[in-house]
Amino acid sequence: MKTAALILIFFVQTSFAQNPVLSSQSSSSAASNVFSSVRIRLFKDLEQFPVVYGSKMKSISDNMVILEGQKLTFQNKILSTKNFVVKKPNHKYDLIAVVDFNTYVAGVVSKEMPLSWPLEALKAQAVIARSYALTKIQERQNKIFHLDNDQMDQVFAFTNSEKAKKAVVLTDQVILKDSKNRILKAFYHSDCGGQTVPASQIWKGAYDAGTATDPWCQQRKSNEWTYELSKDDFYQRLRLSERPEDKLEVSEDFKKRIQSFKVANAFFPVQKLREIFGFSEIRNSPLTFEENQNLVVFKGKGYGHGAGLCQWGTLAQVKIGRSYLQVLEHYYPNANITNSAMKLSQVMMKDLVFN
Ligand SMILES: [Zn+2]
Repeated sequence: MKTAALILIFFVQTSFAQNPVLSSQSSSSAASNVFSSVRIRLFKDLEQFPVVYGSKMKSISDNMVILEGQKLTFQNKILSTKNFVVKKPNHKYDLIAVVDFNTYVAGVVSKEMPLSWPLEALKAQAVIARSYALTKIQERQNKIFHLDNDQMDQVFAFTNSEKAKKAVVLTDQVILKDSKNRILKAFYHSDCGGQTVPASQIWKGAYDAGTATDPWCQQRKSNEWTYELSKDDFYQRLRLSERPEDKLEVSEDFKKRIQSFKVANAFFPVQKLREIFGFSEIRNSPLTFEENQNLVVFKGKGYGHGAGLCQWGTLAQVKIGRSYLQVLEHYYPNANITNSAMKLSQVMMKDLVFN
């Protein structure tokens, strides 16, 4: 704890630079080797400086310290051999790991899809995790970190799984691109319930890689869900200025799912309702909504926002022998899948520039 106190004094005594730049990311080496240095935020808004036993500390700016060492852990989470601790204007700390790109993709595969699933499904997951990550690296190239390690981006943890690593290696040169040859921000979700939705319907301005009807996940009986709560509770949590006399109006669009609710002058897109009542309660766009004397009842099928690849549909497809490429073509009909002749490193040189 003595070390922590010293570090804290160090931070308090030095001024905070508003736009810190990672001095170790010099242009010459980083630009040619994107894959060696994806920066993942493992912890955010820590109240205290993270004390990582066994690490060597080096200050690189007023508000940033590098922690290096072997087998480092913090709060039971494995860290990288090189990490940054950043003190932010709100006086909290972020811990950011510098991770080899393929290690990162394997770590995402291991957390975003059950490792018990067939390798072919994990390969599809590896391609979309890679494509999504590359778009974020591009967007955030001048920022301190590229990706969060939670649902904000993709869930990640270091993995020893040979199967996850194999899925990455076997798809090493495969990425998805949009019709304008830009790397696709490939969205994915657990279970579409029979129909995927345009990404732009979930996120304004998102590129639509196309939609798919999905007979594969539709076979699952277990993906039906119901969420009911008292009418009082429902309207209270909507925080309307007064309890409306009229019933809620619903509007359906994409293939007969409820997309938004309107009452009096208030308008609630379904994603907003999911935020308010919980993503695991209203699991996706409901198929029906009923309001009676005392209760409101939502019913639906599937889980997740519904854009891009459907993981349960992927599982069913590979089980009947479809390849990961066929799966990707099905869920991203407007995307291009780069072929194996293309060197990913060349794509990177052209499309991505590191600071
Ligand atoms: Zn599906």
